[in-house]
Amino acid sequence: MTDAPLIDPFARPITYLRVSVTDRCDFRCTYCMAEHMQFLPKKELLSLEELDRLCSAFVGLGVQKLRITGGEPLVRRDIMTFFQRMSRHLDSGALRELTLTTNGSQLARFAPDLAALGMKRVNVSLDTLVPEKFAEITRWGRLDQVLEGIAAAKRAGLRVKINAVALKGFNEDELFSLIDWCGGEGHDLTFIEVMPMGDMGEELRLDQYWPLSELRARLAERFTLTETDETTGGPARYFRLEETGQRIGFITPLTHNFCESCNRVRVTCTGELFMCLGQEDNADLRAPLRAHPSDDSALIAAIRGAISRKPKGHDFDYSRQGVAGQMSRHMSHTGG
Ligand code: SAM
Ligand code: SF4
Repeated sequence: MTDAPLIDPFARPITYLRVSVTDRCDFRCTYCMAEHMQFLPKKELLSLEELDRLCSAFVGLGVQKLRITGGEPLVRRDIMTFFQRMSRHLDSGALRELTLTTNGSQLARFAPDLAALGMKRVNVSLDTLVPEKFAEITRWGRLDQVLEGIAAAKRAGLRVKINAVALKGFNEDELFSLIDWCGGEGHDLTFIEVMPMGDMGEELRLDQYWPLSELRARLAERFTLTETDETTGGPARYFRLEETGQRIGFITPLTHNFCESCNRVRVTCTGELFMCLGQEDNADLRAPLRAHPSDDSALIAAIRGAISRKPKGHDFDYSRQGVAGQMSRHMSHTGG
């Protein structure tokens, strides 16, 4: 570490950085993107060199876990060059974990290289195991391609965690089949509550909202659930299914406020640092990166300044009339 670590005003050490490397994607999941998205011009995006400087600055300030996301990170051109560069921080021991959130479409191609450079785990988003439903929810995706990608990751020795967005009337009926499949394949499984992001329309979003408290009650009809105090450094809470020994995660930004232990910040593909997923306040890191191509002191000062205003928590709330605290940003912009 080159400097004092990052500690926010609520005494939370910031050790986890999520970086979106592109706003583009080869899918168009209905809860995430509109079908016809306007993507950013290339010059707006951080270059791979700028991403390297930015992530390396955070590692120098004590970030130990780096998650790459998007959009779909594996559709960014030459992204493996970036992963290769980041692996030097794994080799040096400064970074404990380099990981990825992906839709899995390109994993068959990249999983062996990712494993070879030191990645241990990947999160793959998968909401359904029914091909027609997969095509419906992702608009452009094919289930068999993703399943192949997941199998390739497993073969390469990567641990796979499946992330499924819980959607009322969509995958409610697949709760047990998803659990059985993950159990059989040896994958962890985490359910995510749908969040009010983007401009998908309030009515639709409230319609899709399946609180994980309900999902858990459904699970308890078949399994004995024991809450564990495990944490993987993320916001998920974990339960063990006593009958199978499986660990199931729940990410419930709406029904359970996990802000007290928040150790993370996010950077968008244009270099905006968001201190909280649910608040608009952000800091522009692209300007200091570009203004000082060979000196990171302005960048580091901007990061420190931003962390000193990290808010206590978010304001999402479905419990009132409409969707309160709704964000206008798309998840693909901030990076889920
Ligand atoms: N394309 C990659 C993927 O799908 O895994 C990475 C980016 S995606 C934005 C990250 C995660 O955010 C995915 O698991 C996706 O299901 C989730 N996500 C997207 N929109 C969401 C929303 N409105 N509410 C909750 N989760 C959402
Ligand atoms: Fe693409 Fe991931 Fe958003 Fe789906 S959730 S549209 S795969 S970025």
